[in-house]
Amino acid sequence: MAKDYYGILGVSREASPDEIKKAYRKLARELHPDINPDPSAQEKFKEVNTAYEVLSDPKKREMHDLGGDPFGGGGGMGGPGGGSFVDFQNIMDAFFGTSAARGPRPRVRPGADAILRLELDLDETSFGVEAPISVDTAVLCTTCSGAGAAAGTHPATCDACGGRGEVQSVQRTFLGQVISARPCVACQGFGTVIPHPCSTCGGDGRVRTRRSLTVKIPAGVEDGMRIRLAQQGEVGPGGGPPGDLYVEIAERPHDVFSRKGDDLHCRVTVPMTAAALGTRLTIKTLDGEEAVEVKAGTQPGATLRIREKGVPHLRGAGRGDLFVHLDVRTPQRLSADEERALREFARMRGEEVAELSKHGGFFSRMRDAFNGH
Ligand code: ZN
Repeated sequence: MAKDYYGILGVSREASPDEIKKAYRKLARELHPDINPDPSAQEKFKEVNTAYEVLSDPKKREMHDLGGDPFGGGGGMGGPGGGSFVDFQNIMDAFFGTSAARGPRPRVRPGADAILRLELDLDETSFGVEAPISVDTAVLCTTCSGAGAAAGTHPATCDACGGRGEVQSVQRTFLGQVISARPCVACQGFGTVIPHPCSTCGGDGRVRTRRSLTVKIPAGVEDGMRIRLAQQGEVGPGGGPPGDLYVEIAERPHDVFSRKGDDLHCRVTVPMTAAALGTRLTIKTLDGEEAVEVKAGTQPGATLRIREKGVPHLRGAGRGDLFVHLDVRTPQRLSADEERALREFARMRGEEVAELSKHGGFFSRMRDAFNGH
């Protein structure tokens, strides 16, 4: 009776190759003898490796599903668990997440994305702007057009690895015989060497340079948003296709407005009398001046909402609103006349206030009253 490799990996019989790989990586991380010194874990580790070897190979998996022995041929080879041959690459894959792709790595590889911060003022993020930017990236070497070899020369096959890009060694370990492959040192895994590198780029096929670009910022962008400029990033090694350039918006704080989404907020101070009597204010918005009405009897902390005077929406029509928060200021340093007028006002409203003397305040007079003075 063949072992249940699905059970060992803890996956269903319908598991996709990806699910099988994931389950294997998880178990290999838990059970690897370097991490888990328990002898039973070592046994389990071997089992898990065998299970993965079978289930990750479509042919062996099919054989297993049909009830056969993928290591079979009826004995002789030494079945699973019996000091079987374990592919070291699987373990490397589990630990480093490397793909199973082998052989020489290509000299021409895609370039990396680049990112650049762009500081903008609120009116620029609100209404859009064409901003000049200066970009520092690798670009294609024009001397060798990315090939990396000096004019009239060509890359040659690496002698050390015969062009395979890797060298293999066989070791005996607790897992049985293990084959490991390392990138060839002589060619860094490329399988080829460049005997006469291009003098401009040193063989890399690209050079660093500074370019000037104009980036079109749409209306309504927000702090932290990124604008993607396709293929304006780093050119890859060997002149590989460039990555993208991301321009990250950094909105400078505004003197007057604070922004919440597409709404703007500002604070305006009005005198107590204006709040009580009502008034008209002129507010500076992003679009110019706007007259707003403060109703009679406005309370401290009241908010006026001016519709469609916020930031234009990035997607769709319309704009956010402008919220004007009113701070009501109480008058200070009253003149004798002003104080008299206010006291008269308080008296008329039945809001008489106790007079504070220089010698003891309201409470001391209350105390005096209780003490019968
Ligand atoms: Zn070059």
